[in-house]
Amino acid sequence: MSIIDGKAISAAIREDLKKQVAEMKSRGLVPGLAVILVGDDPAAAVYVRNKALACEELGMYSVVHKLPADTSKEDLIALVHQCNGDRALHGILIQLPLPPHLNALEILREVDPNKDVDGLHVVTAGRLLVGEKGFIPCTPKGVIRLIKSTGTEIAGKRAVVIGRSNMVGKPVSLLLLNENATVTMCHSRTRDLDKVCAEADILVAAVGRPGLVTGDFVKPGAVVIDVGTTKVDGKLKGDVVFEEAEKKAAFITPVPGGVGPMTITMLMENTIEAARLYG
Ligand code: NAP
Repeated sequence: MSIIDGKAISAAIREDLKKQVAEMKSRGLVPGLAVILVGDDPAAAVYVRNKALACEELGMYSVVHKLPADTSKEDLIALVHQCNGDRALHGILIQLPLPPHLNALEILREVDPNKDVDGLHVVTAGRLLVGEKGFIPCTPKGVIRLIKSTGTEIAGKRAVVIGRSNMVGKPVSLLLLNENATVTMCHSRTRDLDKVCAEADILVAAVGRPGLVTGDFVKPGAVVIDVGTTKVDGKLKGDVVFEEAEKKAAFITPVPGGVGPMTITMLMENTIEAARLYG
């Protein structure tokens, strides 16, 4: 069994991105990202800070807009439109979840699709569905990159994805399908989940239930990607029982240190791509 070191893979990609940014800056183009945070959730504030720090590390421009939790839909949309029109910004990220009175899909729809570096606009999702070029949502993009880092050929393999959210499960499944895997999507109503998963050459768990995926779910020699992150007694836990799954998997991601580090790196990559394409 080999552990897929998401931290090391992410660091190597960032080194390359740094060089790309330096080259773009020498031509007078500085990739820029706006991050919009509504409310004062401390965990969300940490995610936002990490995104701004990553921009700084790579030499990019970033601006963080912190809005109060009772911000109206109209005011938030006005800010999104302002960012759409700002030529120094190539990417716009709205930190989710939004407070309950704001409908995320409704707000995301206001982002210029050419600045939708988080990949969550309906147009971006549609492009992924029909196989047109567009931004790939960050966590799913990181998942595929980690699978490819193992040298595993995806085409023709049986892939099982547990979870069907718009942010993770659905786009991961579509990306695997676009890579010619035979894909099964599972969710809370799936019957015999363990048996379905035990057929997978590639198993992706994106649920948020620590301990759901036991050793019985894992086919010998499988690639196991654990997207789940749940805080238990102050520690981050994945969906997979690592000690059991590692005995059977050929490759497996740890939590933390697997998928997590890739997500912000993919956001940086998408923002740089946006600057190159539309800057
Ligand atoms: P989500 O929107 O809550 O979706 C969870 C999915 O899991 C749903 O499709 C749900 O099925 C399914 N599910 C729930 N219980 C299940 C069960 N017992 N058996 C099978 N499927 C079950 O969550 P998400 O946003 O996709 O995130 C999933 C996990 O990934 C979370 O732990 C989140 O924190 C983590 N995450 C990590 C990163 C990262 O960068 N590492 C990024 C994003 C998310 P139904 O559709 O039937 O309800």
